[in-house]
Amino acid sequence: MKCPNCGDRTAVDLDMHSDGFTSDESPVKECGACGLVWRVKTEAGETKIDIIKQPTAVK
Ligand SMILES: [Zn+2]
Repeated sequence: MKCPNCGDRTAVDLDMHSDGFTSDESPVKECGACGLVWRVKTEAGETKIDIIKQPTAVK
């Protein structure tokens, strides 16, 4: 998946289940380029992007 902030493709899945931070349907992603942390939720058939952490770096 592309980063919704910078469009980079190096996003990785974060395993945050131990924190109770994520649910099975909405894996948390972190962008390797800008540091944005987000997840994609599906609500009532609509895809929403939920920003968890703002980007930390500008490339
Ligand atoms: Zn990014």
